[in-house]
Amino acid sequence: MSAPSPLMNTYGERTLALSHGEGVWLYGVDGRRYLDCLSGIAVSTLGHAHPVLTAALREQVGRLIHCSNLYDIPLQRQLAQMLVERSGMTKAFFCNSGLEANEAAIKLARLYGHNRGVDLPEIVVYENAFHGRSLATLSATGNSKVQKGFEPLVPGFVRTRLNDIEDLRRIANERPNVTAVFLETIQGEGGILPARAEYLQQVRALCDERGWLMMIDEVQCGTGRTGRWYAYQWADVLPDVVPFAKGLGSGVPVGGVLARGAAAETFQPGNHGTTFGGNPLAMRAAVTTVQVIEEEGLLARATEVGDLILGGLREGLAGLDGVREVRGQGLMIGIEMTKPCPGFVAAATQAGMLLNVTAGNVIRLLPPLIFERSHAQWMLERLIPLIREQAQA
Ligand SMILES: *Cc1c(COP(=O)(O)O)cnc(C)c1O
Repeated sequence: MSAPSPLMNTYGERTLALSHGEGVWLYGVDGRRYLDCLSGIAVSTLGHAHPVLTAALREQVGRLIHCSNLYDIPLQRQLAQMLVERSGMTKAFFCNSGLEANEAAIKLARLYGHNRGVDLPEIVVYENAFHGRSLATLSATGNSKVQKGFEPLVPGFVRTRLNDIEDLRRIANERPNVTAVFLETIQGEGGILPARAEYLQQVRALCDERGWLMMIDEVQCGTGRTGRWYAYQWADVLPDVVPFAKGLGSGVPVGGVLARGAAAETFQPGNHGTTFGGNPLAMRAAVTTVQVIEEEGLLARATEVGDLILGGLREGLAGLDGVREVRGQGLMIGIEMTKPCPGFVAAATQAGMLLNVTAGNVIRLLPPLIFERSHAQWMLERLIPLIREQAQA
């Protein structure tokens, strides 16, 4: 039908092309309208073509897009100040993506180890974790599909299970070179699997006891998605290192690492850097996203609308054998089915909703934070019958 694609086949065949968006709606080149229930995988925090963000970016494009980190970038300082105040950290480093943020965190943990006389530092990572697709971050990832074919993996990672503090204590006793624990507050790609608050507090206590860094990957669950700025805030713990990315720029690529204490002082000139990271355009997008989240009360809205969705799904799917669990926090929601559901995304698209399926059998919802109750209702009316059908397939 069509000529061979000039694109590498990293994503397989894609049938839907989008032409533009407005608010929570995306429009296909076919002229059809779709409700965005995915935000381009937790990215489009303010939806599409938000007037405040659009105006800020237009102004910034006409002023300065890039200048490199050879120069002081006042917008970096402004954003860093906003993020440290909201996270409880003290310093920030900016890059362009989630894997870069995690790569920086991994380097930081190794350097922190070296500074304390550990020549071959180890980092504890988790089953079902996802941290990215660079060599170090795919090695930290707990999914053999992501790693397969790219061996040899980067050494220096020890793996444990989420919410199993006894296993982490065993590692503490057996591995003297551990310098950090690295986990997601809610595993996103792994299937919306939350770390329990009690577990996070136990990890914090163990890190304090051993002098380990507690590093929390908030790339997906951060930036207000769960109804708090950072998902670890629900558990009342303060990590040492916090990589973030996805939603902060509402679609303009931006990532980074927040840190406090010794971790915030670890990198010195020459240790780490980036050409694009922290550029004025990305910083403007992020500063504006943070401002709009607060001006529009989107953290409280994420909780309110998220609870509405969770409640609606639990009621509408109650008693179905094919549905194992409905779980999540704020606007990060998973519906775990008992069987894989490869055709579900296409069925939802056909019904006018963009969402995805992760870990094979978890239907994942990550709507923009501007989602309103009416959008949630619109979605539930169409999604529940589809899931019921899927559950009986
Ligand atoms: C998406 C994701 C990453 C990788 O981010 P990229 O920007 O795709 O490199 C890392 N960690 C988590 C938790 C993610 O969800």
